[in-house]
Amino acid sequence: MQKIRYFDHAATTAVSQEVLNKMLPYFYISYGNPSSLYSIGRKNKKIIEYQRENIANVINANPKEIYFTSCGSESDNLAIKGVCFANKHKGNHIITSKIEHPAVLNTCRTLEKEGFEVTYLNVDENGFINLEELKNSIRKTTILISIMFANNEIGTIEPIEKIGEIARNYNIYFHTDAVQAVGNIRIDVQKLNIDLLSMSAHKFYGPKGVGALFVRDGVSFSKIQDGGHQEKDKRAGTENIAGIVGIGEAIKLVYNNFDEYNEKLLSLRDYYFDKVKNSIPDIKINGDLNNRLPGNSNISFKGIEGEELLLKLDEVRNLYFYRFCVLFGLI
Ligand SMILES: *Cc1c(COP(=O)(O)O)cnc(C)c1O
Repeated sequence: MQKIRYFDHAATTAVSQEVLNKMLPYFYISYGNPSSLYSIGRKNKKIIEYQRENIANVINANPKEIYFTSCGSESDNLAIKGVCFANKHKGNHIITSKIEHPAVLNTCRTLEKEGFEVTYLNVDENGFINLEELKNSIRKTTILISIMFANNEIGTIEPIEKIGEIARNYNIYFHTDAVQAVGNIRIDVQKLNIDLLSMSAHKFYGPKGVGALFVRDGVSFSKIQDGGHQEKDKRAGTENIAGIVGIGEAIKLVYNNFDEYNEKLLSLRDYYFDKVKNSIPDIKINGDLNNRLPGNSNISFKGIEGEELLLKLDEVRNLYFYRFCVLFGLI
């Protein structure tokens, strides 16, 4: 098979071989329906609970606060619509930001058609929301604040702990789309006062088609899909057992090797920025340099022809790839 050099890990990642090996038996050997009472089913129910623990451990949650979904987008939908539908007697106002992923933005747009009101916070030139603007936007009717943990394009990490504090002080639920953050940042939902958190396996070396949602115990939220009673009656549908094994094993693997991996990623990114700076005179690195996802690069180029830019970036790419191979022991 041809080796491809793929670095767009904000879009997706390959499934790690180790994770894939753990998943495979659940497609055709241990494929029982976890709702079945006989042993092949019961065994899979146990596996699901074990994977719930793997996820809970990483974010400092309780396993019963983890719900499996089909993707990050579904987790966002379930979190936002779920909280809004269950709490409409308390109010109809949501606060989010202008730079959310479409899974959040379009969910809010849909809710606006259903009578909810949404404030879309501005961000500054580095992509940060303004905490004063957040406080000033809070109304008596505000039931949910949904702000992404880290942005998928410029990598900005939002002031999550401070947002959590504000939400807690005003008694408003706080959801964060952490699809870019899980795998790249250490997350503690207790310390950060997060009530709901979305993640997706394919962004951290797990398979596509499986996500998870953390919902703090005591947060009232409704299901958004009718059917069987799976996932404590919050998410109908026969469990994706292989996928659930995939997300649980992937998160465990990433966080077991976190410090070493993170350090390499950061050094690679800085190496890349340096090489681009050296080879192209007028560049602007978009987003914040400190509060930024370790693997993110987003650069604007000024006054350079497209063709010359392509050639120069191609040279940098080759240097970068060599460095990558050395760092990760591939050569
Ligand atoms: C990728 C992504 C999503 C969507 O996740 P899927 O699993 O692809 O549905 C949502 N939010 C952010 C920030 C993302 O990067």
